[in-house]
Amino acid sequence: MQPAESGLVARNGIKLLSFCDNDYLGLAEHPKVISAALEATAAYGAGAGAARLVSGNHPLYTALEESLARYKHTEAALVFGSGYLANIGTIPALVGHGDLVIADKLVHACILDGIRISGAKLYRFAHNDAEDAARLLWNHRHEYRHCLVITETIFSMDGDVAPMTDLRRICDANDAWLMTDDAHGIGLPQPVKADIQLGTLSKAVGSYGGYVAGSKTLITHLVNTARSFIFSTGLPPATIGAAQAAVEIIMAEPERAQAAMDNARLFSRLVGLPEPQSTIVPLMMGEEAKAIAAAKALETAGFMVVAIRPPTVPEGTSRLRFAFSAKHKPADIERLAEAVNHACIGV
Ligand SMILES: *Cc1c(COP(=O)(O)O)cnc(C)c1O
Repeated sequence: MQPAESGLVARNGIKLLSFCDNDYLGLAEHPKVISAALEATAAYGAGAGAARLVSGNHPLYTALEESLARYKHTEAALVFGSGYLANIGTIPALVGHGDLVIADKLVHACILDGIRISGAKLYRFAHNDAEDAARLLWNHRHEYRHCLVITETIFSMDGDVAPMTDLRRICDANDAWLMTDDAHGIGLPQPVKADIQLGTLSKAVGSYGGYVAGSKTLITHLVNTARSFIFSTGLPPATIGAAQAAVEIIMAEPERAQAAMDNARLFSRLVGLPEPQSTIVPLMMGEEAKAIAAAKALETAGFMVVAIRPPTVPEGTSRLRFAFSAKHKPADIERLAEAVNHACIGV
């Protein structure tokens, strides 16, 4: 597969309109983002050359971390090598043996890896079920020193949204920290804030890297203790320059996030699905073979859509996963919906 024009990918020499990449705002190919990457390379070279605490901390990092803190409305932010590295560095910096982690059943693999490395005790609550989280805290909180509750803001498979208001209340009532991973967020405002707001620069931001936003105290603590931050080389200047330009565009042009959401809404309406909670829309197919056949039929019609099947999701819940972007035009969505209505009935 090769990227071609906006939103198109080539597979076996045939151009397909992609509904499966995570560049939700079309920023990876934005002219300002591309020129920021080129300028950063010209000014600071191709590579950082060392870990940031040694000599790899080029000035673009400060600019990006200031932009991220403004974007997330926090005192400070810290950039890591990737979202994966941010998770496996941050969680063990906050909890360890004798501490408790309560996490949603469907959190991403790298959150689980971070918890495993930390040595903290893990209990998982039923997906998006704040009452179940409260029950676990009620039963176990008193046996442990620190407690960290972890969820994702938007879940990658179904595009559903965490019950943030309830989780915030439960954390406040139980002396627990709340941590969110906003990897699939697109910059729409979040009414309820987590203490530790983690995210990636490789999806809606269109570049590469990870970050944590929060209080100055949190960020200073991570700089001094997060091992995946301390012992890993800084990101290339181009990556940081591109990410900073992209974060500024997200803040200056909220209409991009709106356009991506409007596309998800239009599609859902045209195929008779409920109002989507995010730019990720699942269409349940049931049997694996049915999902694969539908994805094939859509490919024939010129669309690239992934069939999500076991073991990623439970047996019998195979689905098509559509990721909508600001890159898509309403006419694209109408054509897609027509193809879906056609493809998914006959299978
Ligand atoms: C993609 C993803 C990550 C990993 O981020 P990278 O920057 O690709 O390492 C972490 N958490 C969640 C929830 C993700 O979806």
